[in-house]
Amino acid sequence: MSESDLFIGGEWREANSGDRFDVLDPADGSVIASVADAGVSDAVDALDAAVAVQADWAATPARQRGEILRKAFEAITAQADDFTRLISLEMGKTLAEARGEVAYGAEFFRWFSEEAVRISGTFMPAPAGGSRLLTMKQPVGPCLLITPWNFPLAMATRKIGPAIAAGCTMVVKPAELTPLTTLKLVTVLTEAGLPAGVLNVVPSSHAAAISEALMADDRLRKVSFTGSTEVGRILVRQSADVLQRVSMELGGNAPFLVFEDADLDAAVDGAMIAKLRNMGEACTAANRFLVHESVAEEFASRLSDRMSALTVGRGQTEGTDVGPLINEDAVESVHGLVTDAIHDGAKLMTGGHPVDGPGWFYPPTVLLGVPAEARINEVEIFGPVAPITTFSTDDEAVTRANATEFGLASYLFTRDLDRALHVAERLEAGMVGINTGLLSNPAAPFGGVKSSGFGREGGFEGIEEYLETKYVGIALA
Ligand code: ADP
Repeated sequence: MSESDLFIGGEWREANSGDRFDVLDPADGSVIASVADAGVSDAVDALDAAVAVQADWAATPARQRGEILRKAFEAITAQADDFTRLISLEMGKTLAEARGEVAYGAEFFRWFSEEAVRISGTFMPAPAGGSRLLTMKQPVGPCLLITPWNFPLAMATRKIGPAIAAGCTMVVKPAELTPLTTLKLVTVLTEAGLPAGVLNVVPSSHAAAISEALMADDRLRKVSFTGSTEVGRILVRQSADVLQRVSMELGGNAPFLVFEDADLDAAVDGAMIAKLRNMGEACTAANRFLVHESVAEEFASRLSDRMSALTVGRGQTEGTDVGPLINEDAVESVHGLVTDAIHDGAKLMTGGHPVDGPGWFYPPTVLLGVPAEARINEVEIFGPVAPITTFSTDDEAVTRANATEFGLASYLFTRDLDRALHVAERLEAGMVGINTGLLSNPAAPFGGVKSSGFGREGGFEGIEEYLETKYVGIALA
């Protein structure tokens, strides 16, 4: 019984059915682990365990909850090499990127260890006099946390951290493509002193059945989900029956605006990060490059020079810059978008053809002169492809940037502060990067608007998603 089984009520165990599923290495398709496959009855066992200890956990002093997170932060940091290798192996990203994720993911535990003891309330005299108005914050209760495969550690700690800090118990359903990192995290948290039942983890190939059953149960009080907008919509609908609280971190279609006065070196550096972090498999990835017509050719040629110099290969091999995509479907989907864009008139500057297997590789690709209405501008690419479209006025840039149902990240490059702030205010996005290609920061509120969802993770806002405000009115004679 080990880090490849279910973890329920403080114990590793098999699924009730005895079923298991395989986890594959995206660099060659080989099986790297066989993991216990939770079904609905296991998920209900997990919820039972979470419900059983909710009251005790909520009553545990905040300092104690915070110290568990702090110890876990230190343990992840001490085991950074092991986490790095595991993330790279199951997800494909390079060791350098996996190391970056370990630091980023661990930081959520440090941040929320510090937030745990800052949960407070308010006290005020009623405006009309007489009574006093007291507010207190309390944990929402047992949570279901559903995570995606692209950041196996950070997407888990970003939800588990605030839930622990707030005093919530939880059932975690990691992505079936990358469950191993979350299972390793269980050991870290257990050794840090997390009581049995607070964290239950149910890897499963039956995500829909599990979430449907748990969300029909009114003991479950909250669902936090990171994944596709399509699945997010299903979950929000499901939450209606018992009115669970929901946080939805969904798809993006980030615009990356380069104005004519931008520092082009900085814009290209920013583009490399915003596009290639995680091989483009990030909901914050720059999806549409909107570049002023006077600098578009120059930007495109510098970006394609940089991208074509990169080495594509297995994430764990030294010298690899770009790892494999997560699976065969991902390669097919990315290549289909590229082929359609070329068919629609885009010019291929570099890349553009899948790399021969084994494994699921796609090279960094730059497309210039992509028509605004091309399919690649409408959907989330989730791959290392930069489609460039031109604009001529600021108004046009903003209108185009906002012409999407999504509103997660956005990026803009200009040396003009006035322009930067005006454009930032007009962008319909939860996050705006000014002269930077990297937004993720555990101390900042991460989240979207429109079809990118609602709720914020990280920052001062992150813990609020796991807290209720209770108002107590006190009459004074
Ligand atoms: P992606 O397309 O990036 O894999 P998904 O939204 O399909 O994103 O998956 C994100 C997470 O949601 C994964 O943990 C997956 O198992 C889970 N999931 C997928 N479908 C459902 C569903 N119908 N209900 C609940 N969770 C789901």
